Order: sequence, then C-alpha cells, then structure tokens
Amino acid sequence: MKLSARFHRISRRIGAGLATFVLLPAAFCAVAAAAELSESDFKFDGPLGSQGAQIERVGSNHFHITLGHAPKQPTWCNMLYFHITGNAKSNTLRLDVSFPGGDRYRFNHNSATWAYDAENWQAIRWVNPDEPRRRGDSLLFPEFTEEEVWFGAQVPMSYENVVELMERWGRHPHATVHVLGQSLGGRNLYRLEIADPESPVPPAERWVHWMGNQHPGEHNSQWRMVGMVDWLLSDAGADCRRRSISHFVLMNSPDGPSNGWYRVNAQGIDMNRSYFPHGADEEKQAHEAYIVQKDLEELMASDAPVTNLWSMHTWGGLVEPIMVCGPEMGTVLGPWQEFRRIMQENDPQGLIKPLAIRQKPGNGTYWNNGPHIQFGITTILCEGSGDWTCKQRSLDAGAALMKTLADYYHGTRPAER
Ligand SMILES: [Zn+2]
Repeated sequence: MKLSARFHRISRRIGAGLATFVLLPAAFCAVAAAAELSESDFKFDGPLGSQGAQIERVGSNHFHITLGHAPKQPTWCNMLYFHITGNAKSNTLRLDVSFPGGDRYRFNHNSATWAYDAENWQAIRWVNPDEPRRRGDSLLFPEFTEEEVWFGAQVPMSYENVVELMERWGRHPHATVHVLGQSLGGRNLYRLEIADPESPVPPAERWVHWMGNQHPGEHNSQWRMVGMVDWLLSDAGADCRRRSISHFVLMNSPDGPSNGWYRVNAQGIDMNRSYFPHGADEEKQAHEAYIVQKDLEELMASDAPVTNLWSMHTWGGLVEPIMVCGPEMGTVLGPWQEFRRIMQENDPQGLIKPLAIRQKPGNGTYWNNGPHIQFGITTILCEGSGDWTCKQRSLDAGAALMKTLADYYHGTRPAER
C-alpha cells in the first residue's frame, strides 16, 4: 500500500472518530493503522475454493477476480468461493468478477452468501444477476466487523462439512456410514444408511428410499438432504425408521467444493450426465458415478431393493419435485395425487411446489431417469431453491419431503410374489 493512501485513510478515520482519538490515542491509532485488504489476504484453494481464480488489485479495497474453468470444459466457469484469511475488519470490499470463457453457466445465476465463520451465512446480491449476456458482475460488501470472511455460492457446503455430518449422524444407533470408495481427489464417497435394526420388520418388507446429489455446486439441495436426515433421526422419524431403510449420498462429487466446480468431477464430466442405464461401467463411466451406481446396483440386487430414488438439484424458485411413477403407485399405495396432497399438507410454509408428473423418463444419463429405465422404480427429479440464502429453509423443505415419504409409504412393503 502506498504511504499516501494509508495517510488518507487514517485522516478519514480521525475525522469520523475524533472523540475516541482524543480519549484513547494509542489504541485508536492501532486500529486506524489496520491495513487495507491486499491480494495475499484472499485464499482460493481451501475447503471452499475456486480453481484457477486470479485476483488483481484495482484500487483501495477494490479487486478484480478472473475465474478459472472446469476441468476439460473451457466454457464452464468455476463458481467463486474464497476465504479472506485475515485483515478484513474495518475494511469494505468491492469485487469485480469476470470469466473470459463465455456464459454457458453463469457464475452469478445462483444466490451468493458470505460468513465470518463459514457457518452462519448471510445474503449478498450480485449487482447484475438478471443480465444473462453480461459476463462480468460485481459484489459490494459492507464494512467488515471481523478479520476473516468466507464467500460462496448458494449456502455453501464443503467436503469437510460432509465429514463432520457423517461423524455426527454416525453416532446415532440407527445410522450406518458406508464408505463406498474414494474420489479421484482422494475424498470419501459416503452413503449414509438409516434404519432401525431392532424393528421386527424384515428388510424385504421395508420401503427403501434413496436420495443423492450429483452437481457439487448445488449446495441447497445438499442442505435439503440434511433436513431429511435430521427429521428421520429425530423422534418424529422413529416409526419411519422401523418400516423403511433410507440411503443418502450427500455429495457424489466431493472434490467439487474446494475447486468451485459447479457440475463436474476431476475428469470434467457433468455428474448428472453420468448414469449408465444399461449398467455401471468402470472403464467408460465418470469415476465417482461408477462407484455410486455400482453400489446402487448391489442394493437393487439385495433383499431390500430401492423403492424410490431422488436426484437432488437446484434451479430458481421453490423446491420442485417431478416424478416418474413406479409400480407401487396407484396399486399397493395411493395414486400419485395422494403423494401430492400429503406433501402439501406437510409443507405449511409453502416451500415446495405441487408435485408434477412425467409419464416417461427422458435422457437415461440423468440420475432421475436412468434408474427408472434400468430398474422401473419411482424416480424423482427434485429441483428449485437455487436462489435461497437461508439454510433453514432448505432444512425445513427437506424435513417436509421426508415426512411425506414416511406418510405416503405407510405400513410395510408387500412381500414379492
Ligand atoms: Zn443439477
């Protein structure tokens, strides 16, 4: 920082806080001398990172960030995440952000949040979120009151958060944490299984629910699943745990958050174009997708095959489930309209759109279509909430979805033949 800039800054502060200056000159000067932010205060390779991001100082607490792109996808920008590791207090911040590779997936199309602790996230708006042709956009932060700041898209969830959640949930006697394998970056691929092992209902007579997230940057769908798990492990979920088995793959591309990858894994493969409806293929399939699909195929071959499978995503608006019905709907259970009615009853806050139906599955590489094509089971594409900035809303929507599964899938599953 230039000496003149520092002098100017100190003069401005003295003007604003003369009384304090007179009473506590030594302490005040220590505060006033706090430096402006510099490029080296920004970290882009922590638990929430942005691979390839470059930062350049433009002026006082004003920087330009050029985003990098997803592996093998030069037109797909990485999302912006960063950690200001110190020196933020008493500074404001203006960031101008751009991506030279195009606007195929805009970095400003989701909500944005920031936090002092990577936990209590608060909203900040991009200046021009509604201009799809605009490649650059800006963020204007208020004066910070703490030294460290985290920024991310939607309400961020790091891989480290997933590990903490698995440790917490794994202590519940009805939860089992399975490690299916490792990502290309060496992170665990988890499947959380929840069922009451003391229940008299044998596995073959239990309803089986499977929930997974494919796109690593769609964090609000991950928090939605956290809400499902928390409801299921609460007292309210005890009856459901006796009659069912529930599986959760919270993050199918766990290398994503530390790199800012929105849709892909390290091979640059769109993780929701990664299902192989004719069977998992170790050589041709995306590494992490193969591991999870192979595990799903083993579940399908077990005596407790999956009854319904949820592919969790985000786009704008309310949470939006779209279903392709399996054989239990309208036969041993009520028609899909009953599912829709129960879901609306369980959603007093109006966080979820009325259930929509698709008669036939589309592209089989999508995780909401492929398992229906492969196994004929009920599948649900669950979108929405990408513009939310409140974690609690996603948790509440997830609780409503899980309660709906518990209510609609009542009793036990009729034994096969
Ligand atoms: Zn998605």
